[in-house]
Amino acid sequence: MNYRAPRGTHDIFGEDAAKMSWLEQKARDIFKKHGFEEVRTPIFEESSLFIRSVGQPTDIVEKEMYTFEDKKGRKLALRPEGTTSLVRAFIEHKMDVLMPVSKFFYAGEMFRYERPQSGRYRQFHQIGAEFFCVSSPVADAEIILLACDLLDFVGINEMEARFDNGHFFEMKVHLNSLGCRKCRHVLREKLVEYLISLSNLCENCLRRLVKNPLRILDCKTDSYKFTEIPQLSSYLCDECKHDFDLLKSLLEVAKCDYVVDNKLVRGLDYYTKTVFEICCSDILSSINSSTPIKDAVNCYDQNFKPYYIKARRMNKDLNRRITLAAGGRYDNLVKDLSGQDTPAVGFALGSERVLIVAEKFGSPEFYKSFRKFEKVYVAIADQELFKEAFSFAVKIARNGLKNSKDISVFGPINDKSLTWQLKFADKIGARKTIIFVKTEFKKGKVLVKNMENKVQTEASICEL
Ligand SMILES: [Zn+2]
Ligand SMILES: [Zn+2]
Repeated sequence: MNYRAPRGTHDIFGEDAAKMSWLEQKARDIFKKHGFEEVRTPIFEESSLFIRSVGQPTDIVEKEMYTFEDKKGRKLALRPEGTTSLVRAFIEHKMDVLMPVSKFFYAGEMFRYERPQSGRYRQFHQIGAEFFCVSSPVADAEIILLACDLLDFVGINEMEARFDNGHFFEMKVHLNSLGCRKCRHVLREKLVEYLISLSNLCENCLRRLVKNPLRILDCKTDSYKFTEIPQLSSYLCDECKHDFDLLKSLLEVAKCDYVVDNKLVRGLDYYTKTVFEICCSDILSSINSSTPIKDAVNCYDQNFKPYYIKARRMNKDLNRRITLAAGGRYDNLVKDLSGQDTPAVGFALGSERVLIVAEKFGSPEFYKSFRKFEKVYVAIADQELFKEAFSFAVKIARNGLKNSKDISVFGPINDKSLTWQLKFADKIGARKTIIFVKTEFKKGKVLVKNMENKVQTEASICEL
C-alpha cells in the first residue's frame, strides 16, 4: 500500500518551508515591535467551545470542523481558527482580571474540512493578533495597520507600485460596521427586509434568512443579485456611528487606503462593530509571458529570471478579489465564554495565500530575503583527506566562512567520485564548492569553485 498525505493536506519542504518560516519570523518581529506577545495554544479544544464562539449556523461549525472523541469520550475539535482558543486562554489564565490591556499574537496550523482548491488546504496556516481590553477604535486602527504592515513586509504594497499605481493590482482595506448589541437587530431587520424583496434566493440562503441573514451576503450563487444592499452603517446607533467615524479618520491620518464595503459582513457570529478584510485583485488568473507585454508588470521567478504578467483589471465584482487578511471587533465574546466583560479586536491572515500572491509577483528582494543561507559544499578529491575535510566542514558550520556567516554546509561524503560530488553540489544549488586536493592541502590550501560561473581559485584554508 502506498501512503499519501491525507486529502487536502500537503507536505511543506524545501523553499516552501523556508518561505513559511520566513513569513512567521517576520510576523513575530513586527508583532513584538508593536508590543504583542506570542501565545501557543493547543491545536485542539473542546468542540463546544467553537460551537459557542463561532456560532452554530456557520459553515465552520456546520460542515468544516474536524471533531473527534478521545478515549474518555470527550468531544474535541481541531481548531478551525485562532481567536477562540486565544480568548479561552485569556480567560483561563485570568488575564482579563490581571492585566489592564493585553496584546497577543499566534502563528500556526488551523483545520477545516473544505473542498481543497488552489491555495486552500484542510490543514493550513494562519498568523493573527488579538488586542484585548480597549473599546476605543484606536485598537481597531492599530490592528488594521498592523495587518497592513505585515503584508507590506512581504512586498505586497511594493507590487502595487509596480502595477502602474494600482491600475491592475490593488491592495485595499474593506471596512464595515455591524453594530453593537443595541443596534445590530435594526441592521439585521433592514437586511432581511431587503433580502425578502429579492426573488429566487437559493435554498441555503432561504435557510439562513432566519438563522444567520448576514451570512447570505457571502453566497456565491446569489451574490450577483445583491446590487442595492441598504447602507447598513446609516442604521448604527450613536455610539457605533461615532466609533466608525473615528476609525475612518484614524485610518486617514495613517494614510491607510480603505473603502467602506456594505457587503462585508464576515461569516462569524462573534463580530460586533468593526469588520474588515484586506484584499487584493484576483491576480491568480493573470497571463504569464516571458516577453514584455504592454501594460504588464515585470516580475521575477525564483532564479531571478524576469517574466511579465498582465493581470485582470481590478474588477468591481467582489468575488474577483482575494482576501489576504481579515478580522474585526468582538466585544461580547470574552463575556459569552464566561470571562469578564472585555472588549477586543483582532485579525488573522492566511499564510499560504499570502505566500502565493507574494511569489506570483515575486521581486528579487522577496526571494533574497528568505534565502538567507548560502549553500556551501565541501568535497574531497582524495579519499584520505576525508577526516580533514569533515573537521573543516564542522568548523565552518559552527563559525561560518570569513565573508559569509550565514552558510548552510553540505558534505563531505566519502566513497563518491569528485564528479559525483560536484554534480550533487549543483543539484542542491550550492553557491561554492570547497575541494580538498592532496597536492594543495600539503601547502595548506584548498580549491574553491564558484558553482555559478564554474571558475576555480586557490585559497588558503586558514583564510576561509
Ligand atoms: Zn450600536
Ligand atoms: Zn444563496
